[in-house]
Amino acid sequence: MAGRFAPSPTSDLHLGNLRTALVAWLLARSTGRAFRLRIEDLDTQRVRAAGEVAERQQRDLAALGLDIDPPVVWQSRRTSAYAEAVSALDTYPCYCTRREIAEAASAPHGDGYRPYPGTCLRLSASHRAEREATRAPALRVRAGGANSTVVDLWAGQVSGVVDDFVVVRNDGVAAYNLAVVVDDLAMGIDQVCRGDDLLSSSPRQAWLARQLGGEPPLYAHVPLAVNARGDRLAKRDGAVTLADQAALGLGPRAVLGLLAVSLDLADPGEQVTAAGLQQRFDPALLPREPWVVG
Ligand code: GLU
Repeated sequence: MAGRFAPSPTSDLHLGNLRTALVAWLLARSTGRAFRLRIEDLDTQRVRAAGEVAERQQRDLAALGLDIDPPVVWQSRRTSAYAEAVSALDTYPCYCTRREIAEAASAPHGDGYRPYPGTCLRLSASHRAEREATRAPALRVRAGGANSTVVDLWAGQVSGVVDDFVVVRNDGVAAYNLAVVVDDLAMGIDQVCRGDDLLSSSPRQAWLARQLGGEPPLYAHVPLAVNARGDRLAKRDGAVTLADQAALGLGPRAVLGLLAVSLDLADPGEQVTAAGLQQRFDPALLPREPWVVG
């Protein structure tokens, strides 16, 4: 039994990411689980600094007192596991561009996701050959309009229709939805605590876990951190990383205190430790609104 944190090494963790990591750690440890780290670097392999960013992310988690059970998993090293999983699925090639999907699909969901309208499922052999000549295909899984329901610790039952989503991108790289599910199964993750921007992708991912012969995890989606305007917190919002806070004279202990206050686990100015917070943590009392920073 294990929980996990799965950052992309695109930039340093900000207060919202650190808060989600803290909740994921508290939830895992307070339920007797291991806590694992996965570096989601499929999109950053060509980014030279990605390795350094990932190292700083690990240092920042350690500075807050969030201990990780080894080994750390790097998605860029798991290509063969993804290929093996894809070979077990019923997939078909898709030549659609984003624009074609936008034109053919119904309006995007609230999270911006556009369910695939099934264009390439119905492609004639001659059309397929024509498109094959100009564009490398992505691979989509045939979901047949399945319904999928997950249980989220805070949101309760969440259902969704599973579209034929992409499992291999047209550059040959495993798609996020595939990699996340294959890795969670391989890492023994049975508790997925992450930002609630991913709540709507959980029915799709749970469906895929079952297709691959696994059990979907218990989900726990944490409200995101937002700036004063209500937009998702970003690096440009000021002193949002541990390094930024340190430059203001606030060490990791002070930041942990700030995060604890935001989670109703401590009073302002109180000295806390991660282990101490674990004693106080009760998931039923987690604030359900976005955390407004600044
Ligand atoms: N890598 C994703 C992110 O940084 C998280 C994926 C997940 O937790 O399933 O937002």
